[in-house]
Amino acid sequence: MRNPFETDERRSFRDALSRFVASEVMPHADDWDEAGEIPWALHEKVAALGVFGLGIPEEYGGLGFDDCFMRAIYHEEIARCGAGGVAAALNGRSISIDPILKLANSDIRDRVLRDITMGRKGSSLGVTEHSGGSDVAQMQTRAVRDGDHYVLNGSKTFITGGMKSDYFVVGARTGGKGLRGISLFFVEADMPGFSRTNLDRKMGWWASDTATLMFDDLRVPAANLMGEEGAGFLAIMNNFNLERIGLIAGSLGMMKACLEDSIAWAEQRQTFGQKLIKHQVIRHKIADMSARIDAVEAFLNQLCWIINQGDMPVAEICKAKFFTTKSLEFVASEAMQIMGGAGYLRGNRIEKVYREVKVMAIGGGSEEIMRDLAVRQMGL
Ligand SMILES: Cc1cc2nc3c(=O)[nH]c(=O)nc-3n(C[C@H](O)[C@H](O)[C@H](O)COP(=O)(O)OP(=O)(O)OC[C@H]3O[C@@H](n4cnc5c(N)ncnc54)[C@H](O)[C@@H]3O)c2cc1C
Repeated sequence: MRNPFETDERRSFRDALSRFVASEVMPHADDWDEAGEIPWALHEKVAALGVFGLGIPEEYGGLGFDDCFMRAIYHEEIARCGAGGVAAALNGRSISIDPILKLANSDIRDRVLRDITMGRKGSSLGVTEHSGGSDVAQMQTRAVRDGDHYVLNGSKTFITGGMKSDYFVVGARTGGKGLRGISLFFVEADMPGFSRTNLDRKMGWWASDTATLMFDDLRVPAANLMGEEGAGFLAIMNNFNLERIGLIAGSLGMMKACLEDSIAWAEQRQTFGQKLIKHQVIRHKIADMSARIDAVEAFLNQLCWIINQGDMPVAEICKAKFFTTKSLEFVASEAMQIMGGAGYLRGNRIEKVYREVKVMAIGGGSEEIMRDLAVRQMGL
């Protein structure tokens, strides 16, 4: 569909990413998926395209400007490889880099941000705990002030990139009940009292490690408190909105991959004396898939435009997220149906995408929580 927001700069950013994904990611995506990891060099190669530098000042290796469309283009193009874990392995940092920029003290920023932006080091966001991910206000991990330090005890789980990241933005309770009792801390993997284990054998996101982090009397310098005590978590709410934009755009990239591959298959597969593409039922499936892709794309573009104007349309982002992940579920299913048995075999993009449907519907705010939040934002 024609995009009224396209500019020369965005088009060349997309072209560069698209070429990169076709030559440097697609040929290896299956192997990386099966191996359960991506080579670290990929972090640095992707970083060289500037994608982690959006919204980051040049002194920290960033681009010195932000553009929501370019954020979305990055997530969409990288997702076209079909292996959600490749994108996830790279993107742990994109949900932690903003809090580090905005809330970490200047010593920490000067020491770590450039390495994160350039892909030399990894960073992750640690919010979810065994006790639950949706109800963040129930967070159990505690941080108790002790002289010049905070002492952290507790754990985080489902942390993307957590086995390889050097730096973590961790939520911990410093005060009473609720979100206002939660603070954020900058934690380093080599701090005594920090340990981690891998959550293996996931349904999808194979190429990305997912960790449980343990904090056992972990002493964090008081200077590593991010933002005000009790206010850090509330200060990163916008971060979740941008994460959701990334998940919407990533889902869009996967839907386009499904449509492309199912059309290519239907154009060459013969059944009952004619190409599959000539059967009306298949044509209708393609129309339905294509309509959902257009709707998501238009919704996403509108959100990006609003965000670029300086507003954060929270309700609409929530609505777009669950609308998109439901669309992804539909498109992946229809594409698999068009492929028939061939789609069920490992190694094609549609099979890969089908494995990634659920994590998109759960991660970064589940479909149920998105609906709840949207309706609350509507004042109801
Ligand atoms: C592969 C993967 C990677 C992840 N990466 C990270 C990461 O890097 N950092 C991080 O902090 N977290 C991460 N997460 C965690 C993710 O954010 C949570 O899984 C998500 O927020 C849901 O939390 P939960 O799994 O604990 O489910 P729960 O909160 O226990 O909810 C279970 C189910 O109940 C539903 N539900 C909950 N409350 C309600 C309600 N009030 N009404 C109706 N339904 C409700 C939920 O929608 C969900 O379907 C990751 C998760 C996955 C699967």
